[in-house]
Amino acid sequence: MNIDISEKNAKITNLIKIKNVEIGGNEKILISGPCAVESYDIMLAIAKKLKDLGVHMLRGGVFKPRTSPYDFQGMGFQGLEVIKEVGKLVDMPVSTEIMDPRHVEKALDYIDALQIGSRNMYNYTLLSEVGKTNIPIILKRGMGATIKEWIFAAEYIAKQGNDKIIMCERGIRTFEDATRNTLDLNAVAYLKHNTSLPVIVDPSHGTGLSELVYPMSLASLASGADGLIIESHISPDKAISDARQTISMEELEKIVSKLNIFKSK
Ligand code: PEP
Ligand code: MN
Repeated sequence: MNIDISEKNAKITNLIKIKNVEIGGNEKILISGPCAVESYDIMLAIAKKLKDLGVHMLRGGVFKPRTSPYDFQGMGFQGLEVIKEVGKLVDMPVSTEIMDPRHVEKALDYIDALQIGSRNMYNYTLLSEVGKTNIPIILKRGMGATIKEWIFAAEYIAKQGNDKIIMCERGIRTFEDATRNTLDLNAVAYLKHNTSLPVIVDPSHGTGLSELVYPMSLASLASGADGLIIESHISPDKAISDARQTISMEELEKIVSKLNIFKSK
């Protein structure tokens, strides 16, 4: 498959099914959960709330690409067990980031979608490896990647046969330092106009500030995003990683209520 932007004119967005959830269709989708899976009990408590709110899919990192090697690196394979079990209990599909090409095959037994993190968008070995699978891929934009480079990263995956790719804008690095990243919503409108790939937005990493997640969620939906991926926690202040950008269940509920206000179809 070739999804080169010069050839593709997105009349129809690819519909990607993750269990009972459809991404790229009529309904906007919300993926949420903590930055990192912290324990079985905390993950289950969060997941139950998310299920009640009508969130479509669970997220939670188990292999964490932390800036400092001394920070919590995630629960690893034990975390995969937790997220699988919790997903089953609340009947929601689950997604987590895989960083190591050697972990891809094993991870398939535990998750329903596989996230490629911003730091690994240029990891062509990893991209090719996930391209050989059939699992939906959430491909985050490299924090320094142009849109064209990001599309080429998607092509690395598609070239191996897996075209179930969901593009995720998560902010880029600019001179601006009041926010963690600069959420590039141009990219959303651009991809929607020029490719057939579903696009979701991560306003958590895009802003780094919990109070900006709600307004930027609305902005993302207005720019044409097919969904959102948002870090949330039952006790945001106590989150082990990315606490400053993690929102409460109450704040998330506000976003759920606005999820389909810009629905175009
Ligand atoms: C994450 O989703 O927790 C994450 C590490 O995101 P990113 O790769 O966009 O920094
Ligand atoms: Mn995070």
